[in-house]
Amino acid sequence: MAQQQYDVVVIGGGAAGLSGALTLSRARRSVLVIDAGEQRNRPAGHIHNYLGREGTPPAELLSIGRGEVSSYGGEFLDARVTAVSGDADHGFTVTTDEISVKARRIMVTTGLVDEIPDISGLEDRWGKDVLHCPYCHGWEVRDRAIGVIATGPMAVHGALLWGQWTPDVTLFLHDGFALTDEQREQLEARRVRLVEGVITGLEIVDDRLTGVRLDSGETVPRDALVVQTGLRPRDTLLTMLGLTTQETPVGPFVPVAPTGATAVAGIYAAGNVVDPMAQVITSAASGLMAGAALNADLVMQETRRAVAFKRLGVDGDNPGELFSRDYWEKRYAGHGTHLFRGKANAHLVSDVAGLTPGRALDAGCGEGGDALWLAAQGWETTGVDISATALERAAAHAAERGLTVTWEQGDLTSWAPEPGAYDLISRHFVHMYGAAGEDLYRRLAGGVAPGGTLLIVNHSYTDVASSTIPRPDLPEMFMTAPEIAAALKPDEWDIQVAEERARPATGPDGAETSVHDVVVRARRR
Ligand SMILES: Cc1cc2nc3c(=O)[nH]c(=O)nc-3n(C[C@H](O)[C@H](O)[C@H](O)COP(=O)(O)OP(=O)(O)OC[C@H]3O[C@@H](n4cnc5c(N)ncnc54)[C@H](O)[C@@H]3O)c2cc1C
Repeated sequence: MAQQQYDVVVIGGGAAGLSGALTLSRARRSVLVIDAGEQRNRPAGHIHNYLGREGTPPAELLSIGRGEVSSYGGEFLDARVTAVSGDADHGFTVTTDEISVKARRIMVTTGLVDEIPDISGLEDRWGKDVLHCPYCHGWEVRDRAIGVIATGPMAVHGALLWGQWTPDVTLFLHDGFALTDEQREQLEARRVRLVEGVITGLEIVDDRLTGVRLDSGETVPRDALVVQTGLRPRDTLLTMLGLTTQETPVGPFVPVAPTGATAVAGIYAAGNVVDPMAQVITSAASGLMAGAALNADLVMQETRRAVAFKRLGVDGDNPGELFSRDYWEKRYAGHGTHLFRGKANAHLVSDVAGLTPGRALDAGCGEGGDALWLAAQGWETTGVDISATALERAAAHAAERGLTVTWEQGDLTSWAPEPGAYDLISRHFVHMYGAAGEDLYRRLAGGVAPGGTLLIVNHSYTDVASSTIPRPDLPEMFMTAPEIAAALKPDEWDIQVAEERARPATGPDGAETSVHDVVVRARRR
């Protein structure tokens, strides 16, 4: 694997997955296909009814498909995915036994498992002369002696259908399968022979099926057998993400839109995992459809993001601008004598009030509202900010109030506190983009002394739709409380608070409103 982060991870590299990956890699998306190599038709010698590749061995089609995907930059990992977590806004994590990779979107194409009826010998001959589908194998056994074993409700339909390929069809009423009078009349009219009795095994000569043994001791000569398998979708990853199944005539399957979109945003599915009737060519077609829909979904997410950055005055291709010295100098300069209210943040006051003052760091201190409150409470306080203008204003406020604070100009995209130097590190509303946010929490965490407190407060992305104080539509900028807590090593930190809180606020129009913040308070062990 060339990287740890992909636009799309495709889980399952059969016809559906490879076709989706081809569509996406041709759409210039970074794609990783993770495949456990258990394609449903792998026991079969050839693929039939695949226009343009009629009669191709399954492994050959896969190899051609992999080559095509690779030629456009798609990558492969031979492994089994054990878990998928996350969401479309913050991205997904895909886990195998050995690695974790991140993906913006997921395509699940894990296929299904055929549950072969529990009759001695059937499993060994599966895909060779024990068959299920006349469109896959009918031509190859035309005019031969075919036996249909009645193990499910489609048995009579199967026996009648196979009569299209051969005049010699026997229906085994294995274990007392009951026919209606109408079915019996249909089968007799179509000259399907009926055999009563329990099947005890198959007769194999020179690696070829020659007959079916019954408990009566009789052996009925047959060249091929047809069974109705149970169709069990490999949908554990889908249900793990909260999707539920719906009953279909062949069992429960997760419903999807014609585009392959599931009810969970960012998760698409195609092929046999969601469509039990899909053949190889229709699985490939559904993979193409899901790939195209998924690409359109990503384009719209990218457009929302570009618009949000544009509104912030930043080029979306360079989110780092949002944390540059120039950006903040312009923001402070554009706001007369102050950008912020100068008051301490409510969660600092509520969550720090009970602590014994020691050394405190306010990371991203701006014009000093929090740092000055801490100093007034007796904390030996350092305030760090990227903007010289903000620090000058903060120092002037400190002088006015006779408070002592150490002011330091530092770029929080790389600045790190002295290890273990502080009894309290507080960081309010410094919203870095994507992985930079997590990186900042880790660096700040390193500055907290044993027994000390780390207090992280963010705006909540849930306010994005608020009409009074809307947040930029950039979910990657607003980590949730569990995400922040997860960035701290569990053996080093006791998470005391990790929650979303509502707080009263005043909107730009002066109206009283309520906003939501994410608060994480942790104590270093
Ligand atoms: C014996 C037999 C013969 C058939 N012959 C034909 C035929 O001639 N013509 C035809 O059109 N159809 C045929 N079919 C049907 C055909 O097999 C399916 O239509 C087709 O395989 C469905 O493609 P898919 O991509 O959805 O799933 P699959 O081809 O089954 O691929 C799913 C892939 O996902 C992988 N996977 C599953 N879970 C995970 C995980 N957690 N992590 C990573 N990878 C995972 C699996 O290992 C597998 O490689 C046949 C079926 C059988 C059983």
